[in-house]
Amino acid sequence: MFKWLSRKSRGPSVEEGPGEGDSGRDPEPAATTGEVASIVRRWDGVIADVRQRFRSLIEKTAAASDAQLAALGTDLGPLSRSWSPTQHQLHQHQEEISDAWNQISDLLSEAEPPEGVMDREGQKRDGATCELELDYERAYRAAMARAAERLKQQWQGATAERRCLSCNTPLPAVVVISQAVNVPCPSCGAMTLLDPGPGLRSFAAAALFIGQRSAQTAWEAMRRAEARINGYRDRREVPLELLRELESSAREYWTTTLTVEAEQVPELAKHMTAKLEGAMKGVEKTLRQFWQWRQQG
Ligand SMILES: [Zn+2]
Repeated sequence: MFKWLSRKSRGPSVEEGPGEGDSGRDPEPAATTGEVASIVRRWDGVIADVRQRFRSLIEKTAAASDAQLAALGTDLGPLSRSWSPTQHQLHQHQEEISDAWNQISDLLSEAEPPEGVMDREGQKRDGATCELELDYERAYRAAMARAAERLKQQWQGATAERRCLSCNTPLPAVVVISQAVNVPCPSCGAMTLLDPGPGLRSFAAAALFIGQRSAQTAWEAMRRAEARINGYRDRREVPLELLRELESSAREYWTTTLTVEAEQVPELAKHMTAKLEGAMKGVEKTLRQFWQWRQQG
C-alpha cells in the first residue's frame, strides 16, 4: 500500500538555471512572466483535458458495470474484470501527464521562471497522477459495493429459515455469511450444518468494498497526504503536520472500512482489532522512517 516510499520520484527535480545562448540577452521581466504564465496555462489545460477524458470513460464503465448487475450470478470476478481496460487507461493517462510534464518543464526552464514556480508546477504532476487514481478507485469501489449489496439482497433469504435435519424443528436464526456453521437443534440436540452457499460467500468476500466505499473520504485524504509527502525531494523537509495527517487519515480509513465490513459480515467482528492493529503497524513503520516522526514525544 505505501508503495510511494520505494517509488523514485522524477518529481519537481528539473534543474533550474539559464538556458544556453542566453548570455547577453536580458529579457523583459514582464515578457518572461507572460511566457511563464502561458506555459502554466497550457499545462493546466493538459491536466484538465486528461481528467475530463478519464471521467467520461469512468462514467461509461460504471454504467456498463451496473448494466451487468441484473444478470449477475454469484461470481463478481467478471464484473471486476470489466474494469480492467479502464484501469489500463488510468496508467496510460498517468503516463500522458508525466510525458506532458517533461515537455512543460523543459519549456519552463527555458523561460526562466521565478523562484518556486518549477516546484509548484511539478507538484501538479504528482497531484494530477494521484487524482486520476482516486477518480478510478472511487468509481470502481462504488460499483463493486453496489454489486455486493445486490448479492446480499438476492441471497440472504436462502438461509433465512432452516429446519433440523433430524426432527424438522425450526432452527434459531443464525447469521451465516462467510462460512458454514453447525447449529444444534433446540428440540433434539442434533447438529445441522448451515452453509451460506456460494452467493453469500461471494458477498462476504465483496463486503470489503462496502467498507471501503464508506471510508472513501479518509482514503482520499490518506492518498493525497502520501502524494504531497512524495513531492518533497528531501525527506527531512516533510512537515510533521503532514505525517500526522497521513497517520490520522490512515487510522480513520482502516477503522471505518473494518467496522462497516464487520457490520455486513458479523463473523469478521472478532478479527477487527487485530486487523486494525496490523494495518496501523504498517503505517507506523513507514512513518518511523522520518526523523520528524521519531523525534516527537
Ligand atoms: Zn431436531
